[in-house]
Order: sequence, then structure tokens, then C-alpha cells
Amino acid sequence: MRYLKHLSVLTLGLILAGHALAQGPTEAQLAKSEELARWALEQNLGYEIVESLTTEVGARLAGTEAEERARQWAVTKLKKLGFKNVRVEHFDLPVWERGLERAEILAPYPQALVITSLGGSTSTGHQGVEGDVVGFSSLAALKAADADTLKGKIAYIGEVMTRTQDGSGYGVAGAKRREAAYVAKEKGALAVLIRSVGTSSHRFAHTGQMRRVTSQPIPDGVPAAALAAPDADQLERILASGKTVTLHLLLTPETRPAGRSGNVIAEIPGKKKPEEIVLLGAHLDSWDMATGAVDDGAGVGIVVAAAKHLMDETKRPERTVRVVLFGAEEVGLVGGKAYVEMHKDELKNHVIASESDFGAGRIWRFETRAGEGRVAAAQALGHGVRMLGAAPGGNAASGGPDLLFMRGEGVPVVTLKQNGWDYFDLHHTPNDTLDKIHPADLAHNVAAWLSFVYLAANTGEYYR
Ligand SMILES: [Zn+2]
Repeated sequence: MRYLKHLSVLTLGLILAGHALAQGPTEAQLAKSEELARWALEQNLGYEIVESLTTEVGARLAGTEAEERARQWAVTKLKKLGFKNVRVEHFDLPVWERGLERAEILAPYPQALVITSLGGSTSTGHQGVEGDVVGFSSLAALKAADADTLKGKIAYIGEVMTRTQDGSGYGVAGAKRREAAYVAKEKGALAVLIRSVGTSSHRFAHTGQMRRVTSQPIPDGVPAAALAAPDADQLERILASGKTVTLHLLLTPETRPAGRSGNVIAEIPGKKKPEEIVLLGAHLDSWDMATGAVDDGAGVGIVVAAAKHLMDETKRPERTVRVVLFGAEEVGLVGGKAYVEMHKDELKNHVIASESDFGAGRIWRFETRAGEGRVAAAQALGHGVRMLGAAPGGNAASGGPDLLFMRGEGVPVVTLKQNGWDYFDLHHTPNDTLDKIHPADLAHNVAAWLSFVYLAANTGEYYR
């Protein structure tokens, strides 16, 4: 009896100790996360940061002098805002730059078409190429064509991207952008055109990387470009009439083998557990055709403002909050990969990570990717986000493109899922400019991120 009594006291003690270890947010912290979110809805700092980046730097293609200026802008801005340990971690990469880009139907109805080169495209040479167009309804249809049937011809793939709130149409439609130039080369084509991977009917063509840049050289495909949606319709109408379409295409991009990019890092050092890291990411580079306001100036504004508010409006966090502005995302997640290589030993201390890279729409879902039995704990971090109207999501979050490799190393991630209904009207086109961002929507994002990072940096919970 006496023994049992001792045992029960011991058991009770263990239960209490266990409870003390599993430190989810307290009631007071949950209330504070709501209070912070409400307060941040009235702030404009996120928008001011995007405005500064898109105005003072503008377009910032990976590996170029413009991207270098963006890093300088970021270092100056982050220091001025009061972040600590502000630094750049450089890495090398080949640099692709757009040249001239022109397409003209020569026959049967002579007229110019609006196009843009795809990232990584080869050049047609300054004379351009001329050939008859063979149309395909999908990448699969091009793949099914007999080898050499396209000798001396220009292949065209028309395939419409589906508009969705979660952006799921992009991966499907993007396959033709990634593969068409290499498949067309196998078939003997001179060049390939695709319908823009995008959802707008405006007359802007949509660019984007073909194959991801890595340290290994990418095999050459044929010269490749996207047609603006109305121009794709025009070409398809003429092809459907059964008439032979002869087209002249001029693309003169160039690739330099050695360029430099980098990730910009800034921190709020943790007070109690400085070695434990909560990572907030966005990417600093953009495509070259616009100022990259929604992709991904918005993400930069959102995460930097959320971290700055945390610094000013709360006590110093228990864990370190690290903001990472990745370089060279657009050309193949090069910065995300470099980060994992440079921080390999430290990844086990990354408690949770998330990247904002889906425009400036409001957040409608809070998704996690946590270990078995840790999902409820990770969902607790979305308390303030749900107060702002988001629904709890599943446990298959991507966390954001640059977190792909980190996720592969077991770092738990969450996604504050934005409404992407309009995102692919703007993304990777000359129309991705500041006027498309609604300040109130951006503030909504900052508010959600602030409440999330406040809880993640101040609780003793783990999510692996
Ligand atoms: Zn992006």
C-alpha cells in the first residue's frame, strides 16, 4: 500500500513534468496573439516595404547587378529596422538574360504576336528562324509525335491553365513550360511556342524558368517562348482553319556561366533559447519584366514587417526569429538549396519555418507539416490566423518553394495559404507592379504572420 502510494506520487510527478515540457501556448499567449493581429491590421509597414523595394530597386533578375542592388537595399533596410546579425550569404550560379524577342506570322495573315522568352531558352541567332507551325493540344501530344516529324518546323502547344484559389492549376499547366523545349528538340523542331502559363486574357506573355538552374550545365533545348493568351487564341484560330501558318521567330537570350547571387539574413536573437530558430522566408529576386510586386515583393514586405512588429510590440522572443530573403528562387530555388548546404548542422535547431511567396491575397487557410502526433501542436500556432478568418488546413503544407530542401531535411513547416485566384493574372508578366497590391490585404497578411511568429517564438513546443 505504502509502495503504491509512492508510485502514484511519482506517476503524478511525471505527468506534471511531462505537462510542463509540452509547452503549448498559454491562454495569455493566445489572447496576445489575437491582440497583436488586430493591432497589425491597422499598420501599413508591409506595404511601405514593398513600395520601397519595387520603387528603389525595381526588377531584380537572379544573378544580375539588379539583384545585387536588391541585396544592398535589403541589408540597409533590415539594419535600419533594428535587426541583428544582418548578412549576405553568397553563392554562384549561371546567369540567363533576355535579349530581343519577336514573333511574326508571315503567312497566311501577316501580323506580329506578343511573346516572351522562357527562362533558360537558347537563342535563334540574330537572323531568327522561319518555319511552319505544327500545333499540339498538350505536352503529352507533343511527346507522342513521331521523332523527326517536326524537322524544320516550329511546334506550338496550346493548353489552358485552370484558375483556382489554391494555385493548383499552375503545376499542371507549367509542365509544358518546363519540358517543351527539350521534347521539341528530340523531335527535330526549330523552336517551340507555348500558350502562356497564366490565367489572364490580357496581352502580356508569361515567362518562367524551363529547367532548374543547378551547378551542372543544363542540356540545350530549342529556342522557346510563350504567347500572350489572346495571341495564342489568334494562332489557334488560324491553325484550326487548316491553313499552313508560317512564322518568323527571333529570340536572342544569352547565358553567362559565372554569376553571383545570395541570401540575405537578419535576426531577432532569442532570449531564452537563442539556438532554436523560427524561420520566416520570402524571395528577393524577381523576373525581369516588371518590378516583382506580387512575386515576391509582397512576401518580403509581409515577413519583414511581421518580424519588425514582433521586435517592437512584444518582449524579446524566447527563440531566435530568422528572416531569410532568398536569392535566385525564380531560376530554380537556388537560394533555398544554398541555405540548406550552408546551414546543414543547424537545421535540427530549426523549430519551424514558413515562406510567403504567393502574392498579396488574404490568408484563407492555415496548413501544417508536422510530425506524427504533433499536428494539433502545430495547428495551435494558427490561433490568431484563424481569428482573422482562416480555416485549419491539412498536414501536407509545402511551406513555400524555397523550403523544399529544408523540408526534405525534416524541418517542420506551415503555410499561411493566400487566396491566389488572381495571382496568375500578374505573376511573371510585365503587369506585376505595385498598383496591384491592396494595402489592406497586405496588412491582413502581416497581422496573420505576426500572430503566428509570436506564438512560434515564445512557446516551448516542438513539431517534428
Ligand atoms: Zn515567387
